[in-house]
Amino acid sequence: MLVGPPGVGKGTQAERLREAFDLDHIATGDLLREHRARGTALGRAAAEHMDAGRLVPDELVEAMVEERLRDSPRFLLDGFPRTLAQAEALTAMLERLGRELTAVLLIDAPDEVVIERIAGRQEGRADDDPETARRRVAVYHEETQPVIDYYEQRGLLHRIDAARPIEAVFADARDTLAALA
Ligand code: AMP
Repeated sequence: MLVGPPGVGKGTQAERLREAFDLDHIATGDLLREHRARGTALGRAAAEHMDAGRLVPDELVEAMVEERLRDSPRFLLDGFPRTLAQAEALTAMLERLGRELTAVLLIDAPDEVVIERIAGRQEGRADDDPETARRRVAVYHEETQPVIDYYEQRGLLHRIDAARPIEAVFADARDTLAALA
């Protein structure tokens, strides 16, 4: 699993780790954007939360993840869990499926670095405007810090310094996972 602030480069690292370890990349932000593009009930329910830079309600995201996890024997979760309730729901899901987490990689960088990276992104995401980006970073500190503490207490957390070039971050993440897998 990858955890880290918005804009830190989790998507880029996830893509490389997916290739290196043959993992199924499950990115909840991407899945929600796909639902919106298809105009599903979930996509419509998620839209206003996403545009405001806030989190989509836990139960909606949890149901979406459980469905995906069922057919993914080797997965890389990216962007989930983002709240303590989601982390607890994931523990219950994995128990039901008889599976275990190998590691949680905290891809971390200071707020100034991630806000600058979001400002420089070319993807044209509506939630990348400066005000919404700052809201997303604030939501991360409020809602996701307890997730970090949860996995640290369970001895699963590994910190990766992401205020470095992409290659250096990837080498660190890859070596950390390779030592465990
Ligand atoms: P991301 O692409 O990971 O930055 O996610 C974009 C947006 O999707 C977030 O700002 C949230 O509104 C929503 N989102 C993605 N993952 C979750 C999640 N695990 N829980 C709640 N909302 C989420």
